[in-house]
Amino acid sequence: LATDEMLPTSSGEIPQEMYGFSALPEYRQVRQISEQLGDLGLPNPYFQVLDSATSATAIVDGKEVINFAGYNYLGLADHAEVKKAAIQAIETLGVSTSGSRLISGERALHRDLESELAKFIGVQSSMLMSGGHAANETTIGHLLRTGDLIVHDSMAHSSIITGANLSGARRRPYPHNDWRELDEILHDIRKDYRRVLIVAEGIYGMEGDVCPLPQLVEIRNRHKTWLMVNEAHSLGTLGKTGRGVCEHFGIDPNQIDIWIGTLSKAFGSSGGYVAGSHELVDYLKHTASGFVYSAGLSPPATAAALAGLRQLEQNPGWVTKLQQNADLVRELAKKAGLNIGGSDKSPIVPIIVGDSMMTMILAQKLLADGVNARPLTYPAVEESAARLRLFVNAHHTKDQIRQTINKLAALWSKLQRENHASAG
Ligand code: PMP
Repeated sequence: LATDEMLPTSSGEIPQEMYGFSALPEYRQVRQISEQLGDLGLPNPYFQVLDSATSATAIVDGKEVINFAGYNYLGLADHAEVKKAAIQAIETLGVSTSGSRLISGERALHRDLESELAKFIGVQSSMLMSGGHAANETTIGHLLRTGDLIVHDSMAHSSIITGANLSGARRRPYPHNDWRELDEILHDIRKDYRRVLIVAEGIYGMEGDVCPLPQLVEIRNRHKTWLMVNEAHSLGTLGKTGRGVCEHFGIDPNQIDIWIGTLSKAFGSSGGYVAGSHELVDYLKHTASGFVYSAGLSPPATAAALAGLRQLEQNPGWVTKLQQNADLVRELAKKAGLNIGGSDKSPIVPIIVGDSMMTMILAQKLLADGVNARPLTYPAVEESAARLRLFVNAHHTKDQIRQTINKLAALWSKLQRENHASAG
């Protein structure tokens, strides 16, 4: 909302903040942060350029480093078969679909991927979207409206909140993974709304923990709501064969009304999907704006995801290796006295620092020492929760993991000592 002093003046003059981006208060705040970083001699931690795929290693500034940034969990983004499939698709179908699926953008590859993906997840049907962000935003924004209620985990991804705000429904967060509180909210207000959607995530991207799915399903059944689960980080990483959070808990995936996910993480491509019943997918395919009025997923992205999915089905051992690697990271980090927050059973391990500046300094020193891990700072997380986030890869070696935790622990205790000395 405009503040009083920003309203047009009585002379009718329109202040610059209302039409010039350089005077936009929100933009000036962004500038201020990067100026502060510059004053402290710190490089901007965002928009780092990498000159390779991000896997167990990556090339940064011409130098190979151990890599814990990027969610190419299974190494499929630069797998030979996946690249070959993308190149073949470009050669036969070109680079773009050049149209909405409904008009001229439909290719057999889309249908193959949609049916194989649905079968892999264990539901009737699926549809591809241009990204996981678009899938969340479009689906929530389309299915709910004024008079409805969306109750979501407080750590839900930004696209879920954007979709909820877009819908016009009432949005109510519940404390992270607190299913008892969710149950209480629904007990109190379910009856005041028509359609109610509960939104949770298979694995939470900031914290690296898993949702309490059995309880959520029970709550969904009892309160007669829809349950949507965003599997951006959990499909391909959780469960014995990578079939995600349902396989992890041994739950029938058809008890979840709406599955959402991305092709840009474990599948090594880009794009997103919605999966569930025939009716849900049929309805969204004919009416949801983000699908109907958006070009079909590109041939190389579709072919790469299909090849990635097939590779994953043939190599369940990668999922086991990823889980073992993540457990090793957690075990060594804990032994070294690092705070890994709530991370459990997932390939995401945060290292909580609790101060944005210290987190950025730690990331910078770690990179200089040959390990790439990116900082997550305020306002992405609370200042006291500022952290480095490690994305574990199935192809990390034990030695790479040991080296990383040793370096991290040494740098962290040195930084703390320096900090105490300067404070004292
Ligand atoms: N959900 C979660 C939890 C994510 O982490 C992301 C990507 N960072 C998305 C959705 C969006 O996926 P995409 O990159 O395919 O748009």
